[in-house]
Amino acid sequence: MAKKTENVETVAPFKEVIAEVKAAGGETARLCYQCGKCDVVCPWNRVRDFSIRKIIREASLGLTEIEGEDIWRCTTCGSCPSHCPRGVEQIELGVSLRRIAAEYDVFPTSVRAARTASGSLLADGNPLSEDRDKRADWAQGLEVRPFEEGMELLYFVGCYFSYDPRMKKVAVATAKILNAAGVDFGILGAKESCCGESIRKTGAEEVFKTLAKENIKTFVDNGVKKILVSSPHCYDTFKNEYPEFMVKFEVVHITELLLELIEQGRIELRQGGYGKQVTYHDPCYLGRHNGLYDEPRAVLKRAGVELVELPESRENSLCCGGGGGRVWMDTPVGERFSNLRLKQAREVGAEVLVTSCPYCITNFEESRLTLELDEVLEIKDITEVVAEAMVDPKQGEG
Ligand code: SF4
Ligand code: SF4
Repeated sequence: MAKKTENVETVAPFKEVIAEVKAAGGETARLCYQCGKCDVVCPWNRVRDFSIRKIIREASLGLTEIEGEDIWRCTTCGSCPSHCPRGVEQIELGVSLRRIAAEYDVFPTSVRAARTASGSLLADGNPLSEDRDKRADWAQGLEVRPFEEGMELLYFVGCYFSYDPRMKKVAVATAKILNAAGVDFGILGAKESCCGESIRKTGAEEVFKTLAKENIKTFVDNGVKKILVSSPHCYDTFKNEYPEFMVKFEVVHITELLLELIEQGRIELRQGGYGKQVTYHDPCYLGRHNGLYDEPRAVLKRAGVELVELPESRENSLCCGGGGGRVWMDTPVGERFSNLRLKQAREVGAEVLVTSCPYCITNFEESRLTLELDEVLEIKDITEVVAEAMVDPKQGEG
């Protein structure tokens, strides 16, 4: 395949694409026998025509159209890999095609924002074009200390929880809970960089490696052993991808820690019911990718919530649409999975949709406005529910 210059080649010469797909990590494409089970479970087929089976077939023949939108659709939700009888790694294959497109600098318009995110990640350590020095501003006025060696844990806040006005409330709730429970924790502030999980899924492998190495060096230099995260994306990459750099840290998601603190009696929760009908959405990277289904439900139960389950929950959870870097890409209103999810939440009578992921909350909040459900449905992070239900020892009830 010739390097792209001015004209985009419609179909790249097949042998080179096959070799490049293999080199980029998509070699399992050859195992596919085209049964189509992946397409049946793919959420895209709820909103438009899309076939990962066809993409796999084309890639195995070297006929991929790297200029099109299709290779950018997969949200890496994890649904099709768990249904494939041949062990095809659809996510890795999709990412390998994006790496090729990135190498040839071929991006459809809807994907360009993800390229802007790459630049911002390299310059400021976050995808939101925010100032690195303002990363800890959310903690102003709170008892939150810089991390020091010997502390019980590092709270790795993550980009959205550090900067996004909606998500900062979750970071604040987290800090209040940790303080109330007497957890000895600190943050890295401006020394924290994006975990790099999502940008890697857009094919920007070098950006991921740069971020990962920066974070690993900071963790090692500061004597970090145990890391608390609020985002399932940070959780997944620290736990499953950073070991590629020959390091291993103990990683805890907030849902795991909340349950532990409740069971140890370090958080006191008000008695009595939550008072509103609540449903829970399993984020792909917490559930399907890492198997944390019971912990959030147990936490909600201890917070007085009587959960009503969504029609597609746990392993079958419907993706919000934000993974795989899609949170930075444009999705037409009629193609947003999050709209479907909110309709499901209303159909089960929920007044509050609880989840535990910044991308889910971002997409759900947007859908709440689009669907004009803002009067009848609240979107909450599980941390916010626990903070509301908590008896603060310093302030008494509430
Ligand atoms: S489920 Fe697996 S074998 Fe079947 S079409 Fe999809 S990738 Fe191929
Ligand atoms: S991982 Fe999810 S979004 Fe991606 S192709 Fe498979 S089912 Fe579709």
